[in-house]
Amino acid sequence: MNKPIKNRRQFLATVGAAGAASMLAGSAETVASPADGKEKLAINGGTPVRKSQLHYRPYGPQFYDDAEKKELIDVLESKAPFRWRGPGSKVLQFEKAYAAHIGVKNALGVTSGTTALYTALAALEIGPGDEVILPAWTWYADYDAIILCGALPVFVEIDGSLDIDPAEIEAKITPRTKAIIAVHLQGCPADMDPIMEIARKHKLRVLEDCAQCLGGRYKGKYVGTIGDIGINSFQLSKSITSGEGGAVISNDPELFERAIRFHDVGVIRSPYKESLHGGIMAAFASCNFRMNEFTGAVLKGQLLKLERICGGLRKNAKKVREGIADLPDLKMRKTPDVAGDLGVTIFIDHGTRKRRDQFLRALRAEGIAASGPGGSAILPTNQRIEKKVTIHPEWPSFNSPEGKAMTYGIECCARTTDILGRTGGVVMDPNFTDDDTDDIIAAIRKVYLAMRT
Ligand SMILES: *Cc1c(COP(=O)(O)O)cnc(C)c1O
Repeated sequence: MNKPIKNRRQFLATVGAAGAASMLAGSAETVASPADGKEKLAINGGTPVRKSQLHYRPYGPQFYDDAEKKELIDVLESKAPFRWRGPGSKVLQFEKAYAAHIGVKNALGVTSGTTALYTALAALEIGPGDEVILPAWTWYADYDAIILCGALPVFVEIDGSLDIDPAEIEAKITPRTKAIIAVHLQGCPADMDPIMEIARKHKLRVLEDCAQCLGGRYKGKYVGTIGDIGINSFQLSKSITSGEGGAVISNDPELFERAIRFHDVGVIRSPYKESLHGGIMAAFASCNFRMNEFTGAVLKGQLLKLERICGGLRKNAKKVREGIADLPDLKMRKTPDVAGDLGVTIFIDHGTRKRRDQFLRALRAEGIAASGPGGSAILPTNQRIEKKVTIHPEWPSFNSPEGKAMTYGIECCARTTDILGRTGGVVMDPNFTDDDTDDIIAAIRKVYLAMRT
């Protein structure tokens, strides 16, 4: 099958994807059922676009090299793996470099994205009696961190961007609402302008969860630098990774001080003690979510690759988007900022779940990794959430009159469930070659056009 593939690539190079698909329909070498002007799909016994399947691979480890290695060896040789060890601290160096890179005053390394969320909500003084708004489709950690604070989660539906629908937020605000968690899901920045406007109007705090959008931008600003406080995760499936890890970011020195104290037994240590002039608040009951030096070392090395990873994803996503843009009636995921979007997956709205599933099956048969929206869960219909299960029957979240009255389930997420069920996509990789993206374009075009009639 080498020859026809070569030919197809030459077509793509000379006439572009749009022309290639229709020209290929007449190529005797690749077309099994030329009568209807369409290629026979691999799922129906035709020749797949690719012989070997294109798989999702975590991005960060693909870029591990001597940078991470050197930093890690430094820590081993220093015999000082604890972060509070003066200016040589890798965690501190990472925090400074990361804050400077994304344009925020302060960054704090913590143990995970989940503990970053808990720390950020603590910094915002969220507690029993407070309500926090979050999207119905996101990672468990957003909901769990609100529960850990003893506060009440309030779900809002997503829209065609697969992020929280700003138009649905105001209806969920009550006198007890204290914050909105804007989650930048699957590489796509949430529409921050309307969210910030609503928050200002109702005097609410905004926490940006950037775990799935590290390196993403909204109207020229890095996500996480727009709201009051932001968080990140460096778990394996995120833009850069140390296996596990997280960060809290904020321009606000008071929020930052409370975050530092909450993540480290209530205290502030050098050098933050000096830079915050001793701080403005007393110690309080807190945790230990300190990042260790090995994690800081890997992240210091990974940060050097962040723009390469994001740039690779964006370049490949742009190419695929452009290669399929002319398909009739194509409904791609909307984004409030196509240049800032990471393009981790090319999502298409197929109208119905049945068509989506057919499309994905056919695409996989062509050798292309294709799936429904992943990496998050539809939370309100998750069993433990619908049943409001906590570790203690008197947990404050569900013992206030509002907490008792709160009901989750499908009524909070009918539209979210519908949108996600219709949506399917092809995962991108920063290291896809031109041949890989050509194959993705060819496969999407082949399947989409075959399913048209
Ligand atoms: C991954 C993720 C988290 C949690 O990060 P961990 O490091 O896995 O704890 C939080 N929010 C979102 C949106 C995520 O995708």
